[in-house]
Amino acid sequence: MMAGNTSGMRIVLLGPPGAGKGTQAKKLVDALGIPHVSTGDMFRRMVALGGDLGVRIQAIIGSGHLVPDAETCEVVETFLTRESLWDRFMLDGFPRTVPQAETFDSMLSKRGKRLDAVVAIDLSEQNVLARLGGRKSCPKCGSVYHDVSLPPKMAGLCDRDGARLTVREDDQPEKILERLRVYVRQTQPLLDYYERAGSVRRVDGTADAGEVSARILAALRDGQND
Ligand SMILES: [Zn+2]
Repeated sequence: MMAGNTSGMRIVLLGPPGAGKGTQAKKLVDALGIPHVSTGDMFRRMVALGGDLGVRIQAIIGSGHLVPDAETCEVVETFLTRESLWDRFMLDGFPRTVPQAETFDSMLSKRGKRLDAVVAIDLSEQNVLARLGGRKSCPKCGSVYHDVSLPPKMAGLCDRDGARLTVREDDQPEKILERLRVYVRQTQPLLDYYERAGSVRRVDGTADAGEVSARILAALRDGQND
């Protein structure tokens, strides 16, 4: 157990589509006991609570717009305060931009705290394609298969109803690469920002989930000895 020396960890988790960020977050929660806080969860929670902020967020989301940086930061600050999470969190989906990261840093320093680590899971284009490509789904029942990791019993046909499997628009290689490029374009300035603060821990995401999780834990331990 390493709970003793990680009891006050403030972590941001970054990773491209296909890196298995959700799976890793769960594993880290189990290993370290640090609450996993995703932007989606925070928004839903604020909206459910109602109140001025919740009503404003709901209106923005309802109108189909992205929640601007200022409101996003307000949600995070309100949520972490409400849940007493300023000493222990694994943020997923926030910060997403440099202005958000700057605002978040000042929220932390206002409380005499700082971010301990930004865990960045690295995955090559080729690996993202290998993981997300090859996905096929059933147009009839929605079942999802994968050429390598979850093939149907009869090639190209749904196990449940025998319908011919198709590749969804989102799972076309072009679309996957487009999503990856959006992620890289959005995340690179954020990584540069955190590199300057020396808080980035890069982890090679090319392995099975258990191994990647062990690498993340090792990277967090190493970082503590700085
Ligand atoms: Zn089916």
